[in-house]
Amino acid sequence: MVPRERTVPDRCPGVLAVHEAADGGLARVRLPGGVLSASQLRVLAAAAVELGDGHLELTSRANVQIRALQPGAPVELSERLYAAGLLPSITHERVRNILASPLSGLDHLSRYDVLPLAGELDRLLCATPGLAALPGRFLFALDDGRGDLAPSKPDVAVRMSDGQQGELLLAGVATGVRVAVERVAEVMVAAAEAFLAVRDEQGSEAWRLGELEDGPRMVLTRLGLEGGRAEDVRGEPAVAGAFEGGIVATVPLGVLAAEQAEALAESADEVRVTPWRSVVVVGTQVRRLAEVGLVLEGSSPWNGVTSCAGRPGCGKALGDVRGDARRVVPGWSGGGRVHWSGCERRCGKPGGEFLDVVALGGGGYAVDGVAMGVDEVRAHR
Ligand code: SF4
Repeated sequence: MVPRERTVPDRCPGVLAVHEAADGGLARVRLPGGVLSASQLRVLAAAAVELGDGHLELTSRANVQIRALQPGAPVELSERLYAAGLLPSITHERVRNILASPLSGLDHLSRYDVLPLAGELDRLLCATPGLAALPGRFLFALDDGRGDLAPSKPDVAVRMSDGQQGELLLAGVATGVRVAVERVAEVMVAAAEAFLAVRDEQGSEAWRLGELEDGPRMVLTRLGLEGGRAEDVRGEPAVAGAFEGGIVATVPLGVLAAEQAEALAESADEVRVTPWRSVVVVGTQVRRLAEVGLVLEGSSPWNGVTSCAGRPGCGKALGDVRGDARRVVPGWSGGGRVHWSGCERRCGKPGGEFLDVVALGGGGYAVDGVAMGVDEVRAHR
């Protein structure tokens, strides 16, 4: 089936389709399952230093962004990423949005290690030509059974019940449909194809499954599946600190400097970027992480604090949200989620409930809708 032409272009950035931001080109590198080898992390960090502003931004979908790319830099970046195995598909690079539970296979809450399934799904997705037409915002997720990815409201997800089967979730809602472990990738790809087909039938330009009229039920019908008794499981994000299989390090505001990336790469052969601006270091030989400003204590006020780029990176921003957050957050007590935004669009906001801090211009902020100066924001928690 040939997908309908869109009237509104998909502007989700990738490595090949770089977004022109106020501070230069912005490239988003998809990391299915959030997994990076130490050598891939070094490639990304070197690219950020040599071609961008020196930092890696961690996103709410466990991807990585490089900002402030100069003209010509995207070509060099794509060649480096291709050589490092981080750009396996030209046609599908922006649709490889696959979350996996970051602690999968590493602790006692993991019912089944879904990372191999994330790799299988990625390969099948890239080998399905029609799925290159998926919107760049369409999100897949593989939950190892703990329910930690529910707030991300993935379009198509499977949450494992055990090593034999999992439950299909559509638009973040459990369907009661059971999927055998060996069919997980195949069913998820079929659900994505059904989304595109239903979207065309409805004459819609929806980006997400939940935006379609009766989307989840239409997809199930198209797949010949019937919903059943659904299991509602809601888990928590991984918190900073040590656990059985390694350590979780919070990256304040998701901005990872080259020195921090090097400390992570020295500590483990593999790291996993989480959707919560943190990194799971697999193994227990951690080195220098606290020294370089990564947060390892669950009580730190930085845990759960996120922000958009703000000024000067984004031309729409009404404030330097990261600069203000760095002045304010260290004086806060920890707990809960907070998102700082440079404008009402609230890019990168977390799923679920959070304290909403939005720049108003002139140094002021609206905190959950109440206008105040930055000093009052400091006193707010
Ligand atoms: S929330 Fe507004 S200021 Fe922040 S990155 Fe998005 S558009 Fe820019």
